[in-house]
Amino acid sequence: MDTPRTDARLLDGKAIAAAVRVEVAAGAADFAARAGRPASLGVVLVGDNSASRSYVTGKEKACAECGLASRELALPATASFSDVLAAVHALNADPAVDGILVQLPLPDPRMEQAVIEAIDPAKDVDGFHPLSMGRLLAGLPTFVPCTPLGIMEILARSGIPTRGAHAVIVGRSHIVGRPLSILLSRKPADATVTLCHTATRDLADFTRSADILVAAVGRPLTITADMVRPGATVIDVGVNRIPDPSRPRGYRLVGDIDYPALLPIASAITPVPGGVGPMTITMLLSNTLLAANRRTANP
Ligand code: NAP
Repeated sequence: MDTPRTDARLLDGKAIAAAVRVEVAAGAADFAARAGRPASLGVVLVGDNSASRSYVTGKEKACAECGLASRELALPATASFSDVLAAVHALNADPAVDGILVQLPLPDPRMEQAVIEAIDPAKDVDGFHPLSMGRLLAGLPTFVPCTPLGIMEILARSGIPTRGAHAVIVGRSHIVGRPLSILLSRKPADATVTLCHTATRDLADFTRSADILVAAVGRPLTITADMVRPGATVIDVGVNRIPDPSRPRGYRLVGDIDYPALLPIASAITPVPGGVGPMTITMLLSNTLLAANRRTANP
């Protein structure tokens, strides 16, 4: 007789994010009482990309809900390299701004690296500055990029053991896969990590041996049912728009995994939306509070 299958436990990023935000709000109130001003996030938004606009609005709203201030510098899509640098420098110089976020992608992606490197590392709450990344690699205090930090929180707060586990990460970008590989492989996480990419031969051979499988690719259905070991924890980072005429916007969001097919196979799984996404914004708030506390401790 077949054993009845139970669906995977849902790793509810919204609920975990709500719990973290309660802690951030308490820390923000404490900071404001000590500093006489709220901790604050400075945002540079260039151009009128609708997805970027809505990400920035979401981040500013989340700041307000947790008692953090935000200051937005919006520039037209035609802004020159020196205009964008001037905006970053203005936020660097503003003593009431603790963290700086440059919303990516910029209309001209060739500017991005130099703009990121212009951010004061003490305010680099996205953790993309090479100094922050180098410190992460060296195991020194730094700002950890928000998405991998959020994934670590999901695992920790869901009681999913990482020590000795085989974690397979598909996608090696410097904002998700690569920093996550460092966080998972170092102490105290102590996982054994395999980092996969487009040149990985026989991807399924690796994914099938994962206790923890993370998909950070940006392509729907990259991870199908035959690629997952029964009982694995599956973290879906992907956010992909696929056409859906039944939706008011004409599209819906899906991740990188075949979610319905994996539900009866995995032991725990993150949905899209409502999994990693809410944690990313929440860790930005947490990093902004961290920056504020560090800056007042080391003015
Ligand atoms: P990215 O910079 O485009 O990197 C994608 C990675 O996936 C690359 O390393 C690429 O390999 C690898 N890849 C692509 N196709 C593959 C395949 N068929 N097999 C194996 N590896 C493959 O993307 P990203 O910025 O990391 O973002 C990935 C996804 O996560 C996107 O959907 C993005 O929207 C989403 N995301 C979500 C959040 C959130 O908060 N939920 C945050 C950040 C990103 P190569 O290096 O060989 O090209």
